[in-house]
Amino acid sequence: MDHLSCSQMNLYLHCSLKYKFQYIDGLPKPFKSSGLAFGSAIHSALAWLHKQRMNGNDVSIDRLYRIFGADWYSQMTDTDIHYSDSETETGLAIMGKEMLSLYFVRPHRVPLGAEVRFVLPLVNMSTGEKLDVDLKGFIDLIEKDNTITEFKTSNQAMDQNSIDNHLRLTADSYAYEMLYRRPPSLLKLVDFVKTKRPKIITLQTQAKELDYERFFHLASQILKGIRSGVFFPRKSFMCKDCEYAGPCKAWRGD
Ligand code: SF4
Repeated sequence: MDHLSCSQMNLYLHCSLKYKFQYIDGLPKPFKSSGLAFGSAIHSALAWLHKQRMNGNDVSIDRLYRIFGADWYSQMTDTDIHYSDSETETGLAIMGKEMLSLYFVRPHRVPLGAEVRFVLPLVNMSTGEKLDVDLKGFIDLIEKDNTITEFKTSNQAMDQNSIDNHLRLTADSYAYEMLYRRPPSLLKLVDFVKTKRPKIITLQTQAKELDYERFFHLASQILKGIRSGVFFPRKSFMCKDCEYAGPCKAWRGD
């Protein structure tokens, strides 16, 4: 193991057994949840839009729809999609377009970077202690005023407290400081909420030195857990969309 990512850390925290099935055992996933497929198609379309804007290209909303549609339908052909009770293929395709048109007309600055990938040492900035794995990830969007933005799709809007303690935003802020030798001016989370009438909620925060320290210790403890083979099932709302419900049964004694 030579790196940790935020999605690995989040997965280990939510259900360490699912982490084991996915990252240690490499079990194939028999399906993908509609929420995951939809989020991925929205992310692809946004990344494309930001890269076009970064290069000074004029973009039409119809092209943006096509990029979204191409990703959305290619996922249908690649894998079996499991829809939650209230979602359908057509309904989500329409909702995706509605969300993208809401975002498309928002005022924007020229991006400095879109999907900025990084592999960086994991260091405790206060003590200089370093873990023997790197932090790997990418920042969705960096604007010219040093604002970092992450995008997410959800069923329910997040609250300010969740944003202030958001692992991914802390990791992005840390990576930005390591890459550019200055702190970002602002961290933003743009949440595409899948309500009947879709809406976009933007929340803002800033990372402090203490957040970096908390992140470092969390990464260090997660690493210890993984290396010591500490894996156990954790029943939660995630179970209904879990691709590993079958192998998990033996662990849960269901
Ligand atoms: S079904 Fe639930 S407890 Fe089992 S691996 Fe999946 S998320 Fe974890």
